[in-house]
Amino acid sequence: MIQPQPPIAVSLIAPGIFLVFAFVYCGAWFVERRRHYLLLLALACMLFCIGALVQVLHLPEEIYANAVLSSMFYTAAVIAAAEGIVRRSSKRLSLPVDLAIMVAVTGLVVYFCYLSPNLLARIYIQNFGYGAILTVASLLIIPRPGTRPVDRALFWIMFVFGVQFIPRTVLTIGPNAVFSAKTFGQSPFWQALQVSLVVMGAVLAFAILAAAFSDLLDDLRRERDTDALTGVLNRGGFESRSNAVVGRASLGRASLILCDLDHFKSINDAYGHQAGDEVIRRFGAVLSGELRWSDLAGRIGGEEFAILMPDVSESDAAAVAERVRAQIEEQSFGEFGLARRVTASFGVVERRAGERLQDLIARADQLLYSAKSAGRNRVARTATAAAAAQCDTPAVSDAPARSCHSDVILS
Ligand code: GH3
Ligand code: MG
Ligand code: MG
Repeated sequence: MIQPQPPIAVSLIAPGIFLVFAFVYCGAWFVERRRHYLLLLALACMLFCIGALVQVLHLPEEIYANAVLSSMFYTAAVIAAAEGIVRRSSKRLSLPVDLAIMVAVTGLVVYFCYLSPNLLARIYIQNFGYGAILTVASLLIIPRPGTRPVDRALFWIMFVFGVQFIPRTVLTIGPNAVFSAKTFGQSPFWQALQVSLVVMGAVLAFAILAAAFSDLLDDLRRERDTDALTGVLNRGGFESRSNAVVGRASLGRASLILCDLDHFKSINDAYGHQAGDEVIRRFGAVLSGELRWSDLAGRIGGEEFAILMPDVSESDAAAVAERVRAQIEEQSFGEFGLARRVTASFGVVERRAGERLQDLIARADQLLYSAKSAGRNRVARTATAAAAAQCDTPAVSDAPARSCHSDVILS
């Protein structure tokens, strides 16, 4: 029986590269410990290195023991790599599947070592098996519309890396290849395997690192732009995203709601800052519950929020504001000792041609001021936009008080 004997130095290039990647993934995990998949990838690289050392250095020397042991390390490495990559996308192969693959590949390798010795069969089992694992795993991360370029690249690299195992093996071995111990290292199969591992394996490992780095940047950007108390955007995040939306040439109509909690200072003064925080947090939750995916909501001041609603008319935006107003009025904050109702006032405007975000906010702010002046706990919008004589017919049935000024509708 033939024991593969590739040239040691050449055969150590791939494990050397993956040893470096193992350290890089470990380092990345130290920086971002919640990304456990980085540890799986480090483990995959280490397992591959150990498998290669076992095979290349003949540890143990006995042919079949060596073949089984190296195959176990390689199989575990491929499973860990596949698990690591799909877990980055919150998918998983699951432990039973991992174990089943491990047992199946190892069982077949053992069979073709001890019961029906056949090197060719072992090579096909391992290469087709690894190709199938990586290809199937790549199908779990098929990019959807809107997927980031780095994720698309990762999918394609993993898919091609997985699929190439099959033609590469067939083309470099064929059905009847005969190796001698001395020539295995120079065989097209072994050389193509080394090249594919060094080139494609390294490209895949880089792609995963790029994706992980991209995840980190996205998270940092999200944290930078998110208000920790409410989970909606903070002022900077709201302004930068809303400016981008308002500056879009393709933007049709859009409306803006500005809202501010009523007499909030007295809530803080009477019940403490913590109770005040809870009121703000709850208001953010009510607001978020009324948003569509395309709406942008931001906490742009202490207890002041803004919502930009693309493709929404002023009257529809006013209806949203009214729903939020009614919901917050109904909320009980008894557990924080608040015996009184919490209310908010709203200003709603629809964008006019050429208006920038700051123009919209300025107009909405004037309307908000009108709502406050008129007694608070109400929604104000321009009379021209609400021209359907809604002064007499309430736009929103359960609004507490209404008045109609010359240019402002209060509901
Ligand atoms: P109005 O009805 O006219 O809006 O009255 P108001 O008391 O709500 O108005 P004002 O803007 O004077 O009060 C806002 C208060 O919000 C002042 C500030 O102490 C408080 N505040 C700002 N940020 C926070 C925060 O993050 N947490 C808490 N608890 N309070 C905050
Ligand atoms: Mg206020
Ligand atoms: Mg305020």
